[in-house]
Amino acid sequence: MAEVYDAVIVGGGAAGMMCALTAGRRGRRVLLIEHANKVGKKILMSGGGRCNFTNTGTTPGNYLSANPHFCKSALARYTPWDFIAMVERHRIAYHEKELGQLFCDESSKLIVKMLVDECAAAGVRIETGCSIERIAHDEGDSGFRLHSTRGNIATTSLVIASGGLSIPSMGASGFGYELARRYGHNVLPLRAGLVPLTLSGKHQERLHDLSGVALPVTASCNGIDFSNQMLITHRGVSGPAILQISSYWQPGDDLRLDLLPGHDALDWLLSQQRERPAAELKTVLGETIAKRFAQRLCEVWLSNKPMKQYNLPELKQIAATLSSWPLIASGTEGYRTAEVTLGGVDTDEVSSSTMQSKRVPGLYFIGEVIDVTGWLGGYNFQWAWASGHAAGLAV
Ligand SMILES: Cc1cc2nc3c(=O)[nH]c(=O)nc-3n(C[C@H](O)[C@H](O)[C@H](O)COP(=O)(O)OP(=O)(O)OC[C@H]3O[C@@H](n4cnc5c(N)ncnc54)[C@H](O)[C@@H]3O)c2cc1C
Repeated sequence: MAEVYDAVIVGGGAAGMMCALTAGRRGRRVLLIEHANKVGKKILMSGGGRCNFTNTGTTPGNYLSANPHFCKSALARYTPWDFIAMVERHRIAYHEKELGQLFCDESSKLIVKMLVDECAAAGVRIETGCSIERIAHDEGDSGFRLHSTRGNIATTSLVIASGGLSIPSMGASGFGYELARRYGHNVLPLRAGLVPLTLSGKHQERLHDLSGVALPVTASCNGIDFSNQMLITHRGVSGPAILQISSYWQPGDDLRLDLLPGHDALDWLLSQQRERPAAELKTVLGETIAKRFAQRLCEVWLSNKPMKQYNLPELKQIAATLSSWPLIASGTEGYRTAEVTLGGVDTDEVSSSTMQSKRVPGLYFIGEVIDVTGWLGGYNFQWAWASGHAAGLAV
């Protein structure tokens, strides 16, 4: 005998839990299946353990997707303020770090506890350490028959909330993508996003001993730019500016760094020349950008001499290098350290208001498994909450 549910949700992460509690509140019989030993593992590790759970400035423009309009409906119907209201109801203290990013004061454990408590209050059954072995659904069927490691289950709606491929050690799997393909869905090419970039050969040799040095930059690639910190690592570069631009970069793309963000480089050099004619370039640069990095720039990419000895063409050349320094990355660190997976289930075949498959009635996709990926800064959780909520209202 199969247990019967209105909705079975596969994946007890951010999107799955939000979907489950929303459907449960509507009186639906809901089962949430998680194959790891506990739910919300990525929430626990997010934001350095403090979970950057939303961004108050969320707009559809903060997402990458082959269809930039797809995310609009769900984001409009479940806003950051809706999630903040739940956080406040649970008396979880939070603060804004920068740029609208909201973090827990204490621990991301409180966000997971809140979601689990809300699921319990809504009558959701959660099964951890449980996997789906087989799914039966014939064309014309009004539901799905699932064979799980805990027995047989019948459900009217099946929601895929199994997330992306990043951090396999936290339970990430290709389950959702494989299932989507099996049911005839197109899956757009997958790649790691919000990920450190690697350097190789002479590019790495020139920087690797500066590992740990951080400096503000504006990183530009393919018509978009992000101003924030860059961190040099022993394998390449990381830090928020690099993680952000990594989602827009692919091997071979031209990636440039403005090393004097907020300054017109030539004006700045000319004023330094006027004010400090005897100081060397590496000294004046080292007072504005990280000292060791400035020294390396002057050893490898720029000539170093007292400011008064540069003529105008030389200063123009230096300004061009400083404002548009080419970063030749060889690749990314991949899913091992990526925060998100770009690409995924093609939005063309999914309803933007309910997240239901246009191919298979009763099948839903939510969260990161869909081809919607947010910037760094709480946008990915906001998409998980909003898409989970949209499906939770529809199942
Ligand atoms: C280190 C790190 C830090 C991050 N920090 C932030 C942050 O601060 N703010 C932010 O907005 N975003 C952050 N993100 C991104 C964010 O965690 C994800 O975008 C978000 O969790 C996606 O939600 P989801 O529910 O779609 O997937 P997930 O939260 O990944 O949940 C998917 C769940 O499905 C389970 N699962 C997978 N396959 C199966 C299967 N076959 N059967 C059953 N269960 C399965 C997984 O174990 C997992 O629990 C971070 C990501 C990482 C890796």
